[in-house]
Amino acid sequence: MDDLIYLDHAATTPVHPLVRQAMMLYHTEYYGNPETLYSAGGAANEAVEDARRKVAALINCDPSEIYFTGGGTEADNWAVKGTAYAREKKGKHIVTSAIEHHAALEPCHFLEKRGFDVTRLPVDSDGLVTPDDVKKAIRKDTILVSIMHANNEVGTVEPVEEIGKITREAGVAFLVDAVQTVGNYPVDVQTMGCDMLALSAHKFYGPKGVGALYLRKGTRLVQLLHGGGQEGGKRAGTHNVHGIVGMGRAAEIAMEEMTPVMEQETELRDRLIEGILDGIPDVRLNGHATRRLPNNVSVCVEKVEGEAMLLSLDMKRICCSSGSACTTGSLEPSHVLLALGIPVEIAHGSLRFSLGRWTTEEQINYVLEVLPAIVQRLRGMSPVK
Ligand SMILES: *Cc1c(COP(=O)(O)O)cnc(C)c1O
Repeated sequence: MDDLIYLDHAATTPVHPLVRQAMMLYHTEYYGNPETLYSAGGAANEAVEDARRKVAALINCDPSEIYFTGGGTEADNWAVKGTAYAREKKGKHIVTSAIEHHAALEPCHFLEKRGFDVTRLPVDSDGLVTPDDVKKAIRKDTILVSIMHANNEVGTVEPVEEIGKITREAGVAFLVDAVQTVGNYPVDVQTMGCDMLALSAHKFYGPKGVGALYLRKGTRLVQLLHGGGQEGGKRAGTHNVHGIVGMGRAAEIAMEEMTPVMEQETELRDRLIEGILDGIPDVRLNGHATRRLPNNVSVCVEKVEGEAMLLSLDMKRICCSSGSACTTGSLEPSHVLLALGIPVEIAHGSLRFSLGRWTTEEQINYVLEVLPAIVQRLRGMSPVK
């Protein structure tokens, strides 16, 4: 894998070697169940609580407000469905945006089929939600506003702080899907004014299958998983101890190194964007020019299929992604690109590179060396002229 140029960090990240090392002991020595009373279990329990403190520190909340889950999808599902069923007596209206991740959109869709009413706010051509639209959409029966911190496809960072002020004034619960940002970009639940926030370890150099939901003290939520009394009786199931330990270590590393990593990524990101826009005709950048994740490069290359570019890049050992819906075998371009107002035929030519902490200048230069030729060759073959 050494020669692999991995530019798909928005899909998942490699596990940091220090994270792997921290997890190891909880596979071998401290395999005890954290709920037991003997000392091997006690060590596991202490490790889980230590990780809780580290994750809490990363997003500026109290450790008691962190609930471990099986990933970002579970955290989003729990927040949406749990709020809906906790507050349905007050109302059945949910406000969200058209560009949320499926993990937050689909639970809303599920509820819609069961009598809830969902407003999906449009975004502008940069992918921004307008806070005033949120304000106008809130009704007497609104119980939840769900808006992501940064979009996973086009990288736009949403004005969640302003939206948080609006939801607070209105007394409506506010969920922020921060799976793309936590560990990669500053997240502070106090300045956001959110009541719930979803995060996932494998998006910041931790292991897969573990995440957390931040739940502000006093926020009501019906539980999804019933069983044992874990997580303060709110989320049953034996703790994924090694996974939680890994997420805690990853959070600690992120606290220490986020600023320099972001600076390095931003520089390489801008180099890649400029190189693509200068080197290939008829290409447009998707998402906001400046309010964007430091590692996201999303473009649409006209008159070429995204998948065709993806496969050609794969032959050059470069991993990236194309408008994520296409990866599921569907012919529909992604709901995010369409919501930005990008015409269907152009959205088909989307390509997303997402950089990471180990991305080098040489790797970016190599992409810029091979991509124009790939596009030129594919355009020569294309029946669409
Ligand atoms: C990856 C992702 C998720 C899902 O997280 P998992 O841990 O993979 O289930 C949710 N929301 C966003 C924005 C994501 O990027």
